[in-house]
Amino acid sequence: MSAAESVQKDGMGGVDLAKRWLESTTWVELPFDVYNNAPVCSLRRLGGKVQRYDLFGAIHTDPPTLLYVDRQGRQPCRPMGRRWMKRRPDDSGAPQKEKCMISREIRGLDFDSYLQHIRCFTDEELIPREIEMVDAGEVPADLVERMAQVGLFGITLPREWGGLGWTVEQQVLLTLEFTRASCVYRSRFSTTIGLCSQVLLDYGTAAQRTRHLAAMAGGDRVASFALTEPEAGSDAGAVTTTAVRDGDHYVLNGHKRYITNAAWADLLIVFARTEQGPSAFLVELPASGVSTRLPHRMNGHEAGPVAEIDLVGVRVPAENLIGGEEGVGLRQALRGINHARTHVAATAVGQATRLLSEATRHAIHRSQFGTPLADLGAVESMLGRSYAEMVAGRALVLDCAREFDTGPIPHHRIAAAKLFCTEMASEVADRAVQILGGEGIVGDSPVPRMWRDVRALRIYEGASQIHERNLARHLKSTVGDGGGV
Ligand SMILES: Cc1cc2nc3c(=O)[nH]c(=O)nc-3n(C[C@H](O)[C@H](O)[C@H](O)COP(=O)(O)OP(=O)(O)OC[C@H]3O[C@@H](n4cnc5c(N)ncnc54)[C@H](O)[C@@H]3O)c2cc1C
Repeated sequence: MSAAESVQKDGMGGVDLAKRWLESTTWVELPFDVYNNAPVCSLRRLGGKVQRYDLFGAIHTDPPTLLYVDRQGRQPCRPMGRRWMKRRPDDSGAPQKEKCMISREIRGLDFDSYLQHIRCFTDEELIPREIEMVDAGEVPADLVERMAQVGLFGITLPREWGGLGWTVEQQVLLTLEFTRASCVYRSRFSTTIGLCSQVLLDYGTAAQRTRHLAAMAGGDRVASFALTEPEAGSDAGAVTTTAVRDGDHYVLNGHKRYITNAAWADLLIVFARTEQGPSAFLVELPASGVSTRLPHRMNGHEAGPVAEIDLVGVRVPAENLIGGEEGVGLRQALRGINHARTHVAATAVGQATRLLSEATRHAIHRSQFGTPLADLGAVESMLGRSYAEMVAGRALVLDCAREFDTGPIPHHRIAAAKLFCTEMASEVADRAVQILGGEGIVGDSPVPRMWRDVRALRIYEGASQIHERNLARHLKSTVGDGGGV
């Protein structure tokens, strides 16, 4: 069967689509061991010679394993945005190559110049490539590399750990900029910079921090945070994945789902039950017994799908227990989660800002009944209310970030910001779709895609109802104790 026919048979598109795709993509067969962060030089070693065209058939053969390399010879990529190649355990014993991609020029910028740089990066590189990303079904590999070069993997880590050392307030200001672009871009590095790096920074042993933080800050090690399970979603304490001590190792067994970046991560933080209770483990990938699966469909975030992870007899050295302490995994998780919630609140504001720009632009240029939509009272009402809510969210998250920088982590303020901003972004997105009319449903406007994307923000990092519940409990206890709001 021809490649084009196989695409059609899989129901993944027509013959024309397959032909177009084959014309624009070079598939290169490489020996397996070059996958480990070195596809580009290995490609050069082979002289970039195309050895074989195929669509899906040989992707998992072992050895040799087929890797998909784009025409510029960059990272392995996923054909048709549907299937990712799998890695197999690295038994080559070869040391991992370390490189820090943040350039010296970037490191030399003061914050205002850096913010301006990220603003331009968003307008000139991220936003223009959104449609390409959606069509490819993934963030283009060269763009991930650019995100690393401009330091986006390093914005949350101190300079001594290879990061850029920005405060939480500065991180929020940056997030407000780069999340004017699709929030799928942010997802690509969010688990590394927030959930995982913050857990390691506060709770990792010196050896764990030395081994991982600089590589994470430079974008060389993508980390993924594996907490959620089928029976442990909002109730994260109900995890059933186990970690049983066996000499100088732990053996992990269990199943995780909805894990952002898991399918291409280099490092997992896995939460598993030990004798002392939930504990956090570093699992370096590839690792024997770890396999990931992507969902068939996503409602939003299609170009950054979450994954399921199976852990079957995964042997992890005892020194990979984070902080060397059992039973404190949930406290450690919350450190990452509170940081991530602050960033998600800022993401919601960034998305609302873009949605509002798109809706306003449309309303100015589209006329009905001889009048621009923007001059109709009902549309003005939607625009005005959206603007008020967006700036309220912006003020709230910045205020929250300042508190984060100056005192103990403001859990309740963070919950309030996450709740308000994510609900606000959904409202703004809904009004933007309404203002666009049919163009909000049909065609290439970013608005319907963003409307789907922002919906997930109300679910992850604590569903809205969990925050409402926790804030109500906080109120009841402070007021009940004779305090005031
Ligand atoms: C795009 C995406 C990315 C994600 N990334 C990650 C990740 O990287 N790592 C990770 O570990 N997890 C991740 N998650 C999982 C996410 O954290 C969970 O989906 C979330 O905690 C909710 O769990 P659940 O889906 O099992 O829903 P459930 O817990 O079943 O809750 C469903 C709904 O029930 C209601 N509800 C539940 N409990 C209560 C309560 N006590 N009071 C009132 N209402 C309640 C809420 O409305 C809630 O939305 C991701 C999820 C998504 C969608």
